[in-house]
Amino acid sequence: MQLLGGLKKGLVFVVSAPAGTGKTTLVRKIVQEFDCVVESVSYTTRPPRPQETPGRDYHFINQQEFEKMSSRGEFLEKATVFGFSYGTSRSAVERLLNRGKHVVLVIDTQGAIQIKKTLDAIFIFIRPPNFEELQRRLHERRSDTQEAIDTRLSWAEREIQEAVHYDYQIVNADLAISYQVLRSILIAEEHKNRYPPQKH
Ligand code: 5GP
Repeated sequence: MQLLGGLKKGLVFVVSAPAGTGKTTLVRKIVQEFDCVVESVSYTTRPPRPQETPGRDYHFINQQEFEKMSSRGEFLEKATVFGFSYGTSRSAVERLLNRGKHVVLVIDTQGAIQIKKTLDAIFIFIRPPNFEELQRRLHERRSDTQEAIDTRLSWAEREIQEAVHYDYQIVNADLAISYQVLRSILIAEEHKNRYPPQKH
């Protein structure tokens, strides 16, 4: 008997959180612990940050390529965030689900709304303990200009208002505790009775 990885077809977990909430760390940790949990790699027109690896963090493409993929219906959901386009590959997600993997989509609230209309997914919102802490974490990252930080903060305020529409909320005040909560959600959701019954 294993904690996770017993389903023939995996589940979709949508994780949204304002920048600087620790979502990347939490998601990377769960992917590392469980072979059956994978993070979907989004497509974006945003230029890579110095520490980012193409194909691992994002598939970096130009606007023309993005529009071509979009017109062919290749995105499960897409959104514009801070002036750049982001999208989730429909075929990549389907392939992973059919291999029994749980797929985590780390996407914004605009994308989450689109998924809600099309898929039976589980929605998790990760929030900072308070606004001051978010401000501090964004400054600490040093990868953004002051203007970018201000834009992210005002966007974060709007995103947090959407948290009520999610199935779960994790207040990330302590990484170790938040991780245990996230892990518990995935384990519980895999063991939930679903109709029609999921094949094991
Ligand atoms: P960043 O550029 O800082 O990595 O991400 C900016 C925002 O875009 C974050 O809220 C992130 O979750 C969101 N994002 C990343 N990939 C996607 C995607 O494929 N779709 C949507 N809707 N949002 C995304």
